[in-house]
Amino acid sequence: MTFALVIHGGAGARPGTDYAEQKVHMADLIASGAKMLETGASALETVTAMVANLEASGLYVAGKGSAPNTNGLVELDASIMDGKNRRAGAVAAVSNIVHPVKAALSVMEDGRHVMLAGEGARVFALANGADPVDDPSAYYTEHTGHGSGEAQSGHGTVGAVALSLDGGLAAATSTGGTFNKRPGRIGDTPLIGAGTWADDLVAVSCTGLGEAFMRTCTAHDIAARMRYGELDIDAAAWAALDDVKRCDGDGGVIAIDRRGRIAMPFNSHGMKRAAVSSTMTPVVRVFEPEPTA
Ligand code: ASP
Repeated sequence: MTFALVIHGGAGARPGTDYAEQKVHMADLIASGAKMLETGASALETVTAMVANLEASGLYVAGKGSAPNTNGLVELDASIMDGKNRRAGAVAAVSNIVHPVKAALSVMEDGRHVMLAGEGARVFALANGADPVDDPSAYYTEHTGHGSGEAQSGHGTVGAVALSLDGGLAAATSTGGTFNKRPGRIGDTPLIGAGTWADDLVAVSCTGLGEAFMRTCTAHDIAARMRYGELDIDAAAWAALDDVKRCDGDGGVIAIDRRGRIAMPFNSHGMKRAAVSSTMTPVVRVFEPEPTA
């Protein structure tokens, strides 16, 4: 029986920025995720836990680490998809909740809609037990400088994909979006098929310049290249990223197929990422190759 897990902390990583803290964090987190999967947690439970932890850490441009829009408001996007049944949930441009990914999960579990945006999403999330952010200026940490690298590249995100022992695949993605975005701007992250996808073949979470990922439906494009073109996961992921480049975007993806094969390509400078599986010891990397100390 196979399990596999990949997490990312965004493809906005910049050479010269020290990501030691994020690497330690991702190593601990992926170890806890592996334990969850080993002991029978579902792929959906695992990606939710991974992304919720990444959001709350304040170390990435998502949740606590998000940057405000040009009006000074932090507006967040997140989505989640269960490959077993293709149920999905998403929130877009939502403010002042601690865990957008859990709000996306609530939308999915409620089942009536797939995406809620803005104030409606916030009200729905709070009614479904979301933790509020009562004092945004004290809560959000982007000003502490952890994201200086991302501020130069203009964006950052977190995500997770998992294959559980029962063969289930799931994906989740959460972001503060692009830096200095217009109020109301929504990127690829909450769009099922663009930033996030999971079916019976593959689970995908994307990071990069959202506008290009939206124009290429990157996450679903990878699944389609595998299903119709019979590409393997690596070839499908690279082909989809090449298309992102043709739309003047850059970034990366993490993906796992139903056999536990992993792909984590990027065509930006770096992507914070960590992977583990039942047949692979944990890998934690940002650049390729990693700079020597
Ligand atoms: N894709 C995200 C967005 O455009 C940003 C990122 O992944 O860095 O909102």
